[in-house]
Amino acid sequence: MRESLSVAEAREAVLGETALIGAETLAAADALGRVLAEAVDSPRAIPPADNSAMDGYALRAADLSGASEGEPAALRVAYEVAAGGGAPRLLAAGEAARIFTGAPLPPGADTVVRQEDTDRDGDTVRVRLQPPVGEHVRRAGEDVQAGETVLEPGEVLGAAHLGMLASLGRSVVAARRRPRVAVLSGGDELVEPDGDVSDGRIVASNSYSLAAQCAEAGADSFYLGIARDDPADIERRLRSALGADVLVSSAGVSVGDRDHVRSVLEKLGCRLIFWGVLMKPGFPLVFGRFEEGPLVFGLPGNPVSAMVTFEQFVRPALLRMQGRRRIFRPTVRARSAERLTKRPGRLHFVRVSLERNGDAFVARPTGNQSSGVLRSMTLAEGLLLFPAAAEEIPEGADALVQILDPDVLAREASEI
Ligand code: AMP
Ligand code: MG
Repeated sequence: MRESLSVAEAREAVLGETALIGAETLAAADALGRVLAEAVDSPRAIPPADNSAMDGYALRAADLSGASEGEPAALRVAYEVAAGGGAPRLLAAGEAARIFTGAPLPPGADTVVRQEDTDRDGDTVRVRLQPPVGEHVRRAGEDVQAGETVLEPGEVLGAAHLGMLASLGRSVVAARRRPRVAVLSGGDELVEPDGDVSDGRIVASNSYSLAAQCAEAGADSFYLGIARDDPADIERRLRSALGADVLVSSAGVSVGDRDHVRSVLEKLGCRLIFWGVLMKPGFPLVFGRFEEGPLVFGLPGNPVSAMVTFEQFVRPALLRMQGRRRIFRPTVRARSAERLTKRPGRLHFVRVSLERNGDAFVARPTGNQSSGVLRSMTLAEGLLLFPAAAEEIPEGADALVQILDPDVLAREASEI
């Protein structure tokens, strides 16, 4: 087992063990946010036929040669074509067809003139301009050609993709399944949120923040409860979850006498890959995997450490499993609102709020940065990367910030 890795080394080790998860077939309407696991070809052209983009008149452009405001061209209105309807016959020279948006272009017609550019008088329509051939006509197949591959495996299904699948007549689709993550808390001091804390006990809040982080990363979690600081109890709970794709436990991975998670994992046959990452918060992190079984993340117990290590290692692994191409948070460069100092050696993830000023950002630490102070996370819009070797970030200096809340990029209505 490797020890005391840099964040980059640890991330590489995690992703090196992370394999693509299987696909499943599901209703396209339920597939929002899933990663497509098949190529989707179109069985037909979209739109299926040439049709009108406007309410107006379908006609032959050649009949309007020389037409202008002063000298409109007069055409006989032969018939009307409604959306969903069809033309009764070929449109002859000198004729126009009343047409509505989405209605098929009559045979013989090549152009549509907007209603606003015409005057109607009984069976006659006068057109006050000479349009280019094909104006306001949507061509058959201009969106999608028959037989064309429209969506590729690996695309994340967004709203437009679900609309496109519907257009292609697809109500069922193959997508990567949601990873199943088992979440375990551990510690004799822990109680559930409705438990009695009068004797100094602590609520196992990690179970809730980690489950929510799983959901945000497109995974389904199930809860293994609170294990006592007792190897047999930890073993029993972990054993029940070996069918999961990922096992996430928090606490009990340090070097204390009551930290049994590592030894239990080894006993269960988990191959431990590394322990300890040169970061703050979050040094005591263990990563391993079961052959033909789950990836295992033994996260530190402190609430901020658990969340930040999840962010850096578990989230990218869950996204990679699902075949997502972009697995890391977006980053911006921001000016530090304060002078920051630390000892060299570990990469610090400073919880910051982000204030946007035009295209520039100012990052401000969210108060007490202790790894037990969860408030620093509820206020955090980003994590400022204070590089391992650095000792100081002067006030006003630039730093890279991982964006946790993409709404920080939003602009006021007056700026758009
Ligand atoms: P440990 O790794 O067991 O030494 O735990 C480190 C710190 O995290 C201790 O103060 C624990 O009380 C706290 N802690 C451990 N597990 C949880 C949890 N599930 N939720 C909230 N705090 C926890
Ligand atoms: Mg403990």
